[in-house]
Amino acid sequence: MAMKVDLLGAKIDALGLDETVGRIAEFIRAGRPHWVMTINPEFLYRAQFDSELRDLAKRADLVTPDGVGIVWACRVAGNPVPERVTGIDLMLRLVESAAVKGWRIFLLGAAPGVADEAAVRLRLSYPDLQVVGVCHGYYKEDEEAEAAGVVREARPDLLFVALGAPKQERWMDRYLIETRAAVAVGVGGSFDVLAGRVRRAPRWIRRLHLEWLFRLVKEPSRWRRQLVLPLFAWRVIKEYKLKKFPPET
Ligand code: UDP
Repeated sequence: MAMKVDLLGAKIDALGLDETVGRIAEFIRAGRPHWVMTINPEFLYRAQFDSELRDLAKRADLVTPDGVGIVWACRVAGNPVPERVTGIDLMLRLVESAAVKGWRIFLLGAAPGVADEAAVRLRLSYPDLQVVGVCHGYYKEDEEAEAAGVVREARPDLLFVALGAPKQERWMDRYLIETRAAVAVGVGGSFDVLAGRVRRAPRWIRRLHLEWLFRLVKEPSRWRRQLVLPLFAWRVIKEYKLKKFPPET
C-alpha cells in the first residue's frame, strides 16, 4: 500500500519516479479517471492561506514532490520522500511507457504552436508514440468546456495539462471526467522544454539540486515567484522544528 505523508496539511505520495509511473500505469489499466499534481513550494505556501488550493491538493489522486524544496521540507517534517518527481521528468517517463504500451496521449496547454512542436519532437524520439491530439492553452474562460470536448473526441488514455499552477489543477478537477481520459497529469512548463523553447539546466547542475537557480538566472522574471521560497522554508522550520521546543518563559 502506497504511503502518503503530511506536509503543512497537504498529503504527498512518498513514491519515487519509477513507482509513480507504476501507479499511473495502474490508473490507466483501471480506466477510471484519476488526476495527478506535482506540488511545488509555491503552491503549498499559497495553500496555507487559500482553502481552494488546499482542497485541490486533497482532491488530486496522486501528489508528487516537485523539486528539492519539497523533498527537503518532508525530511525536516520527519516524513521523508524518496526523491523529487518533477513534471518534466514524470512526463518524459510516461511518454516512454506510452510508446511501449500503446497509450494514446493528448497535449493540452502552452502558447499556440508549442504543443504541436513538442508532439513533433516526441514523435521523432518515439516513432510508435500515439499523440492523438494537441490544443494550446490560451483559450478564453468560456471556451474551457470546449477544450474538454476536443480532448474527448480524440479519446486519449493519458492527458498532459500544461496551463501552469493552479490553473491546470482547477481544470483537471473540473473537466477530467468530461474528457473521459483515464489519467490527467499537470506538467507546468514542460511543453516549452520539450518544444525547445526553454532549455533545461545541464545534468551536472540538476545533480547538484540547483535547477531552480539555473531557471532563476535564465528567466529573471521568475524571481518574484521564487521570493516565496524563503517564506516557505521559514514556515517549515517554524512548524516542524520550533514547535517542538517552545520558547522558555
Ligand atoms: N499557460 C497556458 N495558459 C495560460 C497560462 C499559462 O497554457 O493561461 C502555459 C504557459 O504557456 C506555460 C505553462 O502554462 O507553458 C506554465 O509554465 P510555468 O513554468 O509557469 O508552470 P508552473 O511552474 O506555474 O506550473
